[in-house]
Amino acid sequence: MTISRMCPTCRNRQDFRKLDDAEQAAVRKEKGERHYVHDLWRCTAEGCRWYQPYLHTAGGGLLPERFGKQAAADG
Ligand SMILES: [Zn+2]
Repeated sequence: MTISRMCPTCRNRQDFRKLDDAEQAAVRKEKGERHYVHDLWRCTAEGCRWYQPYLHTAGGGLLPERFGKQAAADG
């Protein structure tokens, strides 16, 4: 499932999907074990690492660089 959101990094509307387990773990590592990661979505544009909560860009950030390359068939 994807949602359409304005991506501040891409500067246009993109499809977002929920973070997978590895991405959630990476955010926790950066923000702390108790950081709520189950309502975070990421931009699926190629090379984009932006993620954010469902409703707003506040609280968003960039995933580590290794998450910048996604499989073409992702989704
Ligand atoms: Zn983006």
